[in-house]
Amino acid sequence: MTKKSKFDVTEKVKQALLEGLQKEGLQWFRPWKSGDNHPINHFSGREYRGINQFFLNHVMRARDYSVNEWATLNSIVKAGYRVKTDEMTKYSEVYNWKISYCVFKPKGSGKWYTKLDECIRKEKCEESDVYTNFSMFYFRVYNISQIEGDIKPKRVPTEEVEITPIESAEKVIRDYKKANKKLTIKDVNQNRAYYSPTEDKIVMPEKKQFKKIDNYYKTLFHEMIHSTGHESRLKREGIVDFTFFGADRYAFEELIAESGAMMLSGLSGICTDCGDDETNSQAYINGWVKRVKMEDSKAVVSALTKSARAVDYVLEGK
Ligand SMILES: [Zn+2]
Repeated sequence: MTKKSKFDVTEKVKQALLEGLQKEGLQWFRPWKSGDNHPINHFSGREYRGINQFFLNHVMRARDYSVNEWATLNSIVKAGYRVKTDEMTKYSEVYNWKISYCVFKPKGSGKWYTKLDECIRKEKCEESDVYTNFSMFYFRVYNISQIEGDIKPKRVPTEEVEITPIESAEKVIRDYKKANKKLTIKDVNQNRAYYSPTEDKIVMPEKKQFKKIDNYYKTLFHEMIHSTGHESRLKREGIVDFTFFGADRYAFEELIAESGAMMLSGLSGICTDCGDDETNSQAYINGWVKRVKMEDSKAVVSALTKSARAVDYVLEGK
């Protein structure tokens, strides 16, 4: 347990926020709204809360861990496991606040208590005589993916469904990947889909996590359309110059991605209105699309022109 100042932590929050926003845009905020994937302690099952939840989710996303379970080095060793050698320095920090109570005595000689009533009782004083001190400590924890050998997650994975890939959609994805070798498309067992322009990488939940396979494709098409905006491709403003304050521009890019995904879905014969799916990011995205004023028909026409261009790029590579 090591002491930390509040300043260190707020600075870290700011850094994590900026990194996340630069990497994934506003989409980055989404996982904190869904309640099924909070970080827990692997051994005790206890949920991490507040700032710790924020940090651990951030690390999990940044490193593509598939399980949101963590443990201290001590508890890992005690349970007979060990952290992989090259992961030893890649620990994460979990913060705890400690409150202690003391009755002021000259030269700070008072005894510190962890409980207020104990302090009052033993010092025979009033509550108003007691000073409270907050101190912050941090523990180092490791994700269970950093542990050597086969360690089973504590959380039971959700029921798996039979997956039948849709060949027409698979072909669109295969061809696009072949023509764009620098782009990474990765399925990870987690519940978000995004495109990172800085890494030129699409991260998707796994197919089995979608109630309907069509939703997987439509979500991936949405992210693929974003990726056409990369500076090495169509250089679209909303992707190349993404800034965190540009919410309207972001909404415009979302409209392009969403309408492009509809076109690609239609063209590859999957359903274009796949119904609601909890792993489908679009419900969230639609909130942003609403920011583009529909009465502003120029904006809509311009978005549709750009999405048609993006669809051509996916299908034809130009
Ligand atoms: Zn999007």
